Amino acid sequence: MTKTKPAAASKSSTNRAKKAKTAKRALSVDNPGRVLKRSRYSKAETYAVFERFHAANPEPEGELNYVNAFTLLVAVVLSAQATDVGVNKATKHLFEIADTPEKMVALGEDTVREKIRTIGLFKTKAKNVILLSEQLLRDHGGLVPENREALEKLPGVGRKTANVVLNIYFGHPTIAVDTHLFRLGNRLGIAPGKTPLEVELAMEKAVPIEFGRHAHHWLILHGRYICKARKPDCAQCLIYDLCKSPEKEKLEHIPQIALQTAAKCSKQATL
Ligand code: SF4
Repeated sequence: MTKTKPAAASKSSTNRAKKAKTAKRALSVDNPGRVLKRSRYSKAETYAVFERFHAANPEPEGELNYVNAFTLLVAVVLSAQATDVGVNKATKHLFEIADTPEKMVALGEDTVREKIRTIGLFKTKAKNVILLSEQLLRDHGGLVPENREALEKLPGVGRKTANVVLNIYFGHPTIAVDTHLFRLGNRLGIAPGKTPLEVELAMEKAVPIEFGRHAHHWLILHGRYICKARKPDCAQCLIYDLCKSPEKEKLEHIPQIALQTAAKCSKQATL
């Protein structure tokens, strides 16, 4: 009978343990991990977190290109399971020839499909872009409605897309929970929740009113570039000293970026 070598067995079990740990750490919409019952932060601590984001970047901007409400709506619909860079490449030519629902319908589904074929799920998305353009013409006089219920009735538009359009174009303090925001809500413990809706509602409650307009942008950018899924870059984190995440890396000193940004804030709270 062949026996497994003890060394090999222990190596493979270490690898399994490592993989399990990594999977557990990479919180995502599909894997919320252990969810807290409530925020780890007091009101003053939450205020300090968002004041830092504001001090570092008072007017954050999304990374999707658009020229009006309609092209923003289309860009957000196309961005599901695609990168903003990929969407921008595809929409550059599309929006040059079709920046209104009328022009999009006139272009037709086949041409739209060709223009966006580099983006994932392009067939379904092309169909939805035409259907939503027709619906905008039929029900809203060709305009993008400024209300969630009407937006969510459009083909391909869910709560997250509606929230992005309401926030970016119309200036509502909505929180669009994507994979980054969902991870941050739970990882930091600032707005824990098992589902995107739970995180959205917890975040709406937690974010101080004056930071509501830009909160989702700050968190998306923070999640995309600093507090990344697999390994957060804590040495570059401007809220390092405020962060209560168990995943926070233990550094010898508070990062310069956190100290410099804190110096610009009125409430220089540190934990
Ligand atoms: S300190 Fe680390 S874990 Fe905490 S928010 Fe910053 S990057 Fe994320």
